[in-house]
Amino acid sequence: MIEIKDLKKSYLINGNKTEALKGINLKIEKGQVFGIIGKSGAGKSTLLRCLNLLETPDEGEIIVEGRDITKFNKRELREYRKNVSMIFQHFNLLSNSNVYKNVAFPLEIAGHKRDYIDKRVRELLKIVGIEDKEKEYPSNLSGGQKQRVAIARALANNPKILLCDEATSALDPLTTKQILDLLLELNKTLGLTIVLITHEMDVVDRICSNVAVMEKGEIVEEGIKDEVFKSP
Ligand code: ADP
Ligand code: ADP
Repeated sequence: MIEIKDLKKSYLINGNKTEALKGINLKIEKGQVFGIIGKSGAGKSTLLRCLNLLETPDEGEIIVEGRDITKFNKRELREYRKNVSMIFQHFNLLSNSNVYKNVAFPLEIAGHKRDYIDKRVRELLKIVGIEDKEKEYPSNLSGGQKQRVAIARALANNPKILLCDEATSALDPLTTKQILDLLLELNKTLGLTIVLITHEMDVVDRICSNVAVMEKGEIVEEGIKDEVFKSP
C-alpha cells in the first residue's frame, strides 16, 4: 500500500546540515499497524510527516496505491490528504470549540450538509466512546477523552491511513492502554492502516503487527514485531 524508496531529507539551519532521513526504504501493507520506534532525534517525526507531505522530502519516492505522492500537484495532494489523517501527542484540538465543533470541523471543510454532519458527529463520538461529551470544551476533558475527540475528528472523512505521532506519550499507563485498544479496534473493524511513531516499547508491543527501528536517520531493523524483538 505504501512503499517508501530511498527517501532523504535534510534540514539546514544557520549553515548546519542535519540529515534527518538518510535513504529510507520501507513497505507498509494495507491493514497493518506499523510501528516506527527509536530515540528522540532518530527521524521518526520527519518520516511520518513525509507520509502526508507536511514535510517535503529532498529525494526518493513515496508510492501509495501505485502513485508517487511526492510528485502530486495541489489538487492531487488535496484529494490524497482526505485518505490520510493524523493524531498528535498534544491532541491539537480547537480549544475555543466544544467537542461537537471539533469533530464537525473536517466535515464542514469537506462541504457536507448540516444533517449529514449531525448524524456523522454523533456516530463518531459513539465509536470512540464519548457520546455524552458533545457539549464539553477540551479544557474540561481528561487526556484520554481529548485523544478520543482527536481520533473522532481524524476519522470523520473515512481515511484509509491514520498517522499517530507519539499519540499516547502524554497519557498515563492505563489511559495509554485504553487508547491503544481503541486504535486496534479501529484497525480491525474499519480496516484502517495505522502508522505510529513512538519511543515506547510497550506501545509497539501492545498493538503493532510490524515494526521498524530507526537510528540517526536510518532503519536499522525491520520486520514482523515478534521476529524483530525475539530474544536471542
Ligand atoms: P519530537 O522529537 O517529539 O518529535 P521535537 O521537539 O523534536 O519533537 O520537534 C517538535 C517540532 O520541532 C517538530 O515540528 C520538528 O520538526 C521541529 N524541530 C525539531 N528539531 C528542530 C530543530 N533543530 N530546529 C527547528 N525545528 C525543529
Ligand atoms: P524524532 O521524531 O525521532 O525525534 P525528528 O524527525 O523530529 O526525530 O528529528 C530528526 C532530526 O532532524 C533531529 O536532529 C532534529 O533536530 C532535526 N529536525 C527535525 N525537524 C527539524 C526542523 N523543522 N528544522 C531543523 N531540524 C529539524
